[in-house]
Parts: sequence; structure tokens; C-alpha cells
Amino acid sequence: MNAPLTSQHSAQLAADSGGDSPLASPWAADFPILARPVRKRRLAYLDNGATTQKPGAVIQALEAFYEQSNANIHRGVHWLSQHATDLYEEARERVRVLLNAPDSQDVVFTRGTTEAINLVAQSWGQKVLRAGDEILVTGMEHHSNIVPWQLLCARTGAVLRHARITDTGELDLDDFRAQLNPRTRLVGIAHVSNALGTVNPVAELVRLAHEAGALVLVDGAQAVAHAPVDVQALDCDFYAFSGHKLYGPTGIGALYVRGTILAGMPPWQGGGDMIRTVSFEGSTWAAGPQRFEAGTPNIGGSVALGAAIDYVLSIGLERIAAHEAALLAEATERLRALPGVRLVGTAAHKAGILSFLVDGIHPHDLGTILDTEGVAIRAGHHCAMPLMSHFGIPGTARASFALYNDGRDVDALVAGVRKAQKLFGV
Ligand code: PMP
Repeated sequence: MNAPLTSQHSAQLAADSGGDSPLASPWAADFPILARPVRKRRLAYLDNGATTQKPGAVIQALEAFYEQSNANIHRGVHWLSQHATDLYEEARERVRVLLNAPDSQDVVFTRGTTEAINLVAQSWGQKVLRAGDEILVTGMEHHSNIVPWQLLCARTGAVLRHARITDTGELDLDDFRAQLNPRTRLVGIAHVSNALGTVNPVAELVRLAHEAGALVLVDGAQAVAHAPVDVQALDCDFYAFSGHKLYGPTGIGALYVRGTILAGMPPWQGGGDMIRTVSFEGSTWAAGPQRFEAGTPNIGGSVALGAAIDYVLSIGLERIAAHEAALLAEATERLRALPGVRLVGTAAHKAGILSFLVDGIHPHDLGTILDTEGVAIRAGHHCAMPLMSHFGIPGTARASFALYNDGRDVDALVAGVRKAQKLFGV
């Protein structure tokens, strides 16, 4: 997925940042929070896999919505309600553009990736799955792409299987092929692993799954902010992501559903806004994505998500991918060079996530020492406990990059690891 860093990219980035370093970020100044010191240090925010910081454009879009446009949407007769409805539907169109979906009516707003996957499990899955049917995921999935399927299997008698991963943290394609069979109804795959950074060959996996007669759900939580995504080129049936990992607010995300599939999906939550008619004899459902958006949705969040999409598209996801690839390459090389450091996840094709272990230091202790230096990383199992079990470890330290990170963040990370090693005498 990540475009390799070319000399042309490097030259372009150096020119934009006004400096010589291809690792400088011309976009850091767009993010107010990065100017605040943390523990009296310059903040090196490397926890972007958990959530990203927000640019001024997104914060202002949220404020402007509540200052100028707030009203409840759909069927309002007054001007403000119609205005808010227009903004909400324009945000849906922004998501369509981001994913290159054929139609904005293929886009359902959700609270995020987790809710999107639960929606598919409870609506499509509950309708289609029968005892003995199979769901196939990979061994590197986030709990969000495991547990909803376990719950569905418990209700339907379907079986959850997983394809194994290799020691470098790549999907074992032979095992994936071997596990696909005529009983497989759904394949769930992370586009990018949040714990390892592995980029999965989604288009190829979709082709194989479709040949076997299964639909494919792609968990795009770690992908959409880091490289261009095209659901038509991937040919996937469902694509889920969270706004907060894309420089947007928390509590808003989206699910793309191939139009022909969406038309046959029953509602999963009932209430206002998702109906066509209601009587005590029975109710009928709204057509399109509204059928899955019961109750008052996160209107302001959707509008701000639209602003976040405009922000990344104005920079260009190819450029963002190139910048993060350069940061990952630099951090990988420098951490690998330190004695006692072991990288976990060394796939040939990776996005900007670096998981590692330091001999003699628990990841939580490492995270705590880095924090005293103003370096924010994540330590633990990264909601991927089966993956950690595969590697026989309880967790890792994880640095994850975003467009505003630069060479100073990598310097701070490496210096912090060295400091921890000195403190622990390892
Ligand atoms: N899938 C992946 C790969 C993730 O990284 C995350 C967030 N860590 C999720 C799903 C869940 O996203 P959310 O908590 O925003 O619903």
C-alpha cells in the first residue's frame, strides 16, 4: 500500500519543509496540541495507531458547526435543520470520495470501526449465517475483528477460523487458501495490522475469497490515514474505518457496503430516522444507509470528519504515505542497530508502525521511561492478544507515525530507548 519513498518524494518533502531533511514535516504546524510541552519536554507523539491529533481545520469545523449550523437532521421543516442535513449528507459524500465508493448511499455513518463491524455481524451475519457456516479471519486481527464474529457464531452455530501468520508477521497465503472452502461465508481482514504495521494484499485476498463464494470485510482502521484506499479497486464488500485515526473526532466513523448487499441487509437497531412507516401492526424501513442510522447521529462529528478528509486529500495520501515510509525506514534502521532491541513484525510491506522489544525491559517500563522524555508510545497487547500469543510474548512497545511526525521524534524515541537501557543496566 505504501508507495516506496522515491528520490522525487524526498526532494519534494525537503522543499516543502524549507529544510534539507526529508524527515521534516511541513504539516506539524497545523496541529495545535503539538505545541504544548508534555513533562516539560517537546512532545514526540508516536501513539497514532491509538488515535491521531487533530488539525486546526477539524477543530474549527466542529466549533463552526455548533456556532452556526446546529439542528437535528432529516425531515426538519426549518432552514437550520435543512442546512444541518445538507452538511451531514455532504460529509457522507466526502467519505465516498475518500474510499472511491461508487455512491454516497453505500456509506453508513457509525461510531467507528468497532461499531461498523458489529453492524455487519448483527445485520448481514445474523440474516445469512447458518450452523456450520464459516467465517475466516487472520491471526493478526484486532479484537474488533474477532469478538463480533465470536458473538455471531455463538448465536448462529457458525464457526470462526483463522489463517496463520508467519514469523515475519505476514499472512501465510497458503494457509489462507487452504482454509477457504465452500462453507466460508465471510472473510475478515485488517488492511493494515495495528500491532505490526503489516499491509495485507487485500485485492488478492478478496479475489481468492470471492472465488470461494465468500464476502470480504476489510478493517481499514489503520489504513485510511496512511495511503490511498479504493474500495472499487480492492473489490471488497465491506470496508470499515474510524474518524479519530484519520485526524477527525472520536465517536464517528463509517462503513462502506457494496450497494447490492446493503439493499438486502435488515436493520440492527430500531428507532427514529431508520424507518419509513411505523404502526402497531408493524414497521417498514428507510432505504439506503439511513436504515442503519437509528436515532440522532453524531452530526457535528460527521461534519468534522468531512473536514478531516478534505485536509488529508488536500495534502495527498501518496505524499503522506511517502513521508511516513521515510520515518519508518529511519526508525527501523536506528532501533535495529541498538543492541538488545528486537523488532516484532518485519513484513516486506509495512505501514508506519514499529513494534519492538528491548531485552531486560518490560514494554510498560519502557513506555513509562519514554514518557518522562515527552515521547508517547503504546505498550501492551494492542488489542491483538491472539497475535501476541502467536509470538509467545505478552506485548510489545509500539511507535506509530503520522504525517506530523519528523526526524526529531525518531531521535527522541531512540534516545529514550538508550536512556531506558542505561537505567536498567542492560
Ligand atoms: N481495528 C484496528 C486494526 C484498529 O487499530 C482499531 C483501533 N485500535 C480498531 C479496529 C478499533 O477501532 P475503534 O476503537 O476506533 O472502533
